[in-house]
Amino acid sequence: MRIAVVALFVISVIAAGLVDGRGDGPAVVPAAAGAATRSAVTAPAVASTTSTTSTTVAAVAARSTVVTTSPPAPSTTTAPNPLPSAGTASSGAVVTQRGLVLPLLRREGDGFLVETPCSRTAVVQGSVVPRATVVLDPGHGGTEPGAVGPNGLSEKGLNLAVVNHARAALERAGVTTMSTRTGDHRVTLATRAKVAKALKPRAFVSVHHNAEPDGPRVGPGTETYYQIASADSKRLSGLIYEEVVQALSAYTIPWVADTDAGAKYRTNRAGGDYYGILRLSQGVPAVLAELAFVSNPPEAELLVRPDVQKVEGEAVARGVLRFLNTSDPGSGYTEPYPRSSPAGGGGGSSGCVDPPL
Ligand SMILES: [Zn+2]
Repeated sequence: MRIAVVALFVISVIAAGLVDGRGDGPAVVPAAAGAATRSAVTAPAVASTTSTTSTTVAAVAARSTVVTTSPPAPSTTTAPNPLPSAGTASSGAVVTQRGLVLPLLRREGDGFLVETPCSRTAVVQGSVVPRATVVLDPGHGGTEPGAVGPNGLSEKGLNLAVVNHARAALERAGVTTMSTRTGDHRVTLATRAKVAKALKPRAFVSVHHNAEPDGPRVGPGTETYYQIASADSKRLSGLIYEEVVQALSAYTIPWVADTDAGAKYRTNRAGGDYYGILRLSQGVPAVLAELAFVSNPPEAELLVRPDVQKVEGEAVARGVLRFLNTSDPGSGYTEPYPRSSPAGGGGGSSGCVDPPL
């Protein structure tokens, strides 16, 4: 058995932007205010990204001394999850010196040929991470803000903050994690999915917030979309649904929802997964989670609070941990009503500008 040596380095994280998420993004709601609120959300997110990412790399390095190549034990184990497999470190993702996580194509000279956030290729320096047990995907970023609340809270910063809280909780539980986006820049759906597939995680969760509800609802209108052909994806969606709804139900506000809120699917005309992030990541159990409606003023006021962002992130983490460590079935499964209106655009490479790598 070969031991993989994962180079450790301190990751400096970019104070820049975000990426784009599911490519279905709900329509953007006109923003009223903005800058002040947005920066309040973005700042802590950047700070926590630094520590989380460093922790991740350290964890991978530490674990590489006990590498196993056996497949993950099926559920009902409380042991830490499958360790990153060592191998030759010629596959996986590269964490660049700026903290970006990019799919490794091949070694090139003393560097690595990678796919960039905008789905181009580049040679970078960095450290190869062969595996992660969980990959999280903060939707949108950069010039693609996603839905924007009436208080100016944009989905891209909110999603990143929630993902960072989820990662911190998972890492505390001994689970290695990586994120498809650590700053405020665009990332195509294709690159996001490739990061997930490159790291061969047991779970991949794309975190979003919603817009355009059907109407009021007693309780949160959380939606978790699963891959139609994957029983694992479905169970993961039901567990995340259960945990997020339970956590948000602690707040009594005028919630909104689609009438078919729940753990569900959406298919395209060919019968495959409608959402690109779920379709392109096939082979990895993936969920697209719309945690709450940032377009709804009372929910936007809630979601701008760092403590609520933490509640959401930790709820996502609990759902993932139950998926990894139990055989709990999850709940909230619902039959979606047919949809013909296209989801919001975004997630492509047109007009995409790569951040410094
Ligand atoms: Zn979104």
